[in-house]
Amino acid sequence: MSDHPVLNYISAGAWSLVQPLLSNRAKDLLITLIDFMENDVLPAEKLFHAQIPTHPPEARWASVPPILEELTLRAKGRGLWNLWLSGGDFQGMAGGQGGGLSNLEYAVMAEIMGHSAILAPQATNCSAPDTGNMEVLARYGTPEQKEKYLVPLLKGDIRSSFAMTEYGVASSDATNIRNTTALPSSNPDKLVVKGHKWWITGAGDPRNAIHIVLAMTDPQNPSPHKRHSLVLVDPRSKGVKIVRPLTVFGYDDAPEGHCEVVYDGVEVDVDSGVVGGLAGLGKGFEIIQARLGPGRLHHCMRTIGIASRALEILLQRVSDPNRKTFGKYLRAHGTVIADIAHCRAEIDAARLLVLAAARRIDVVGAKGAMQDIGIAKFTVPSMALKVIDRAMQVHGAEGVSQDTPLAYYYASLRTLRYADGPDEVHIQQIGKNELKRVEKLDQRFERIKKEGDRLLEANGKAKAKL
Ligand SMILES: Cc1cc2nc3c(=O)[nH]c(=O)nc-3n(C[C@H](O)[C@H](O)[C@H](O)COP(=O)(O)OP(=O)(O)OC[C@H]3O[C@@H](n4cnc5c(N)ncnc54)[C@H](O)[C@@H]3O)c2cc1C
Repeated sequence: MSDHPVLNYISAGAWSLVQPLLSNRAKDLLITLIDFMENDVLPAEKLFHAQIPTHPPEARWASVPPILEELTLRAKGRGLWNLWLSGGDFQGMAGGQGGGLSNLEYAVMAEIMGHSAILAPQATNCSAPDTGNMEVLARYGTPEQKEKYLVPLLKGDIRSSFAMTEYGVASSDATNIRNTTALPSSNPDKLVVKGHKWWITGAGDPRNAIHIVLAMTDPQNPSPHKRHSLVLVDPRSKGVKIVRPLTVFGYDDAPEGHCEVVYDGVEVDVDSGVVGGLAGLGKGFEIIQARLGPGRLHHCMRTIGIASRALEILLQRVSDPNRKTFGKYLRAHGTVIADIAHCRAEIDAARLLVLAAARRIDVVGAKGAMQDIGIAKFTVPSMALKVIDRAMQVHGAEGVSQDTPLAYYYASLRTLRYADGPDEVHIQQIGKNELKRVEKLDQRFERIKKEGDRLLEANGKAKAKL
């Protein structure tokens, strides 16, 4: 066990906790994944970036770097495919297209993939937003919708977007979403979709073949949670306009992108255009809640991997003999040593939160694990940002440049403090849940106090200080 290759990625302590819970198949896949990362994915990162054209700007969105397609074929050939598709929830759904791991097993693998978050999740068909979208279609789609969209997504033949956030609307409170509608038209067989969204990840991707759009279908419904549905829009339909890719601290994430999108009178079929068919009308909220549970945790799993990679980069830099300051290696300065220790401790602590949440999903399902997922959701990205910040600091000015991956890591992880809901919303929910314990706490401590008073009296003592 002491020389298991997984120990290059996760701590011995965490491994000793999870290892007994891993199936033999998962253990074999883990070895295969590590080999794939070390020999295929990590060496291919520079080529991936080099294969994204810089000029003309529109060329950035016109093709997928060939190395990614190659890696995808290799991953599929080695069974590293749809690893996110947990056995518990989706038993049998993949139909030979991978999957079948527990969430805990996947947590270890997703962390390892996080060491190359830009390539490994895509190469293995484990990347957002496709995973969440596949989950929606698997759980709520009609048989026809599964055939048309889920099957090609599972095969990796197409990609998808999830379009919720509205331009000009505070979308972290999804009940605010009101400017996107899917309403009956003069043609009784059609709904007409109108709306203006932004930050729609994947909408720039030439492989994108479906947008799942949160739209109002019943504006007058007295319940704000029953006014919306998820509408399926083919991005090649008349009326869909990809306005522009947005940038994150200057990065455009081509060829996937995060785009501003206008739906200007797009027609969808009444029967088949809403996730779940006619029965899915008004179920938008219910479905997005279900979608976001495991997906949020997947981000956290990968984020631990990104933080670990940043620490590795830090360790190498501070040990570089060409970079001595004040007569010493950077690694010999006390503040640097302390930074390293903090990085190690924070990554290892955060990993345990993520593993515990994953295990909880396996045991009680995503709904029952919401508290654990929420805690990971708002703590893990901030932890990783601190680690990356320390890694940037030891690099001096180079740390914020394009010559290391650190600036990109920082930019992309900073967005996780908004994406899938801002930190404050999760913090508020966790705090509220914690307060729900007060009644039971009162009862428990009342009982303990009574017993304490009885003991005092029995021993002839009137009062005592604690
Ligand atoms: C890189 C990236 C990719 C994204 N991809 C997608 C995507 O694919 N699809 C999609 O639909 N959206 C996507 N988003 C959008 C993301 O989901 C939203 O940004 C997020 O939900 C917040 O909504 P908002 O930007 O409208 O912020 P607002 O709702 O305007 O909130 C602004 C701020 O208000 C504060 N706030 C909100 N609620 C509370 C509260 N209860 N207490 C205290 N403060 C509060 C928070 O600080 C919050 O950041 C993406 C965003 C980024 C950056």
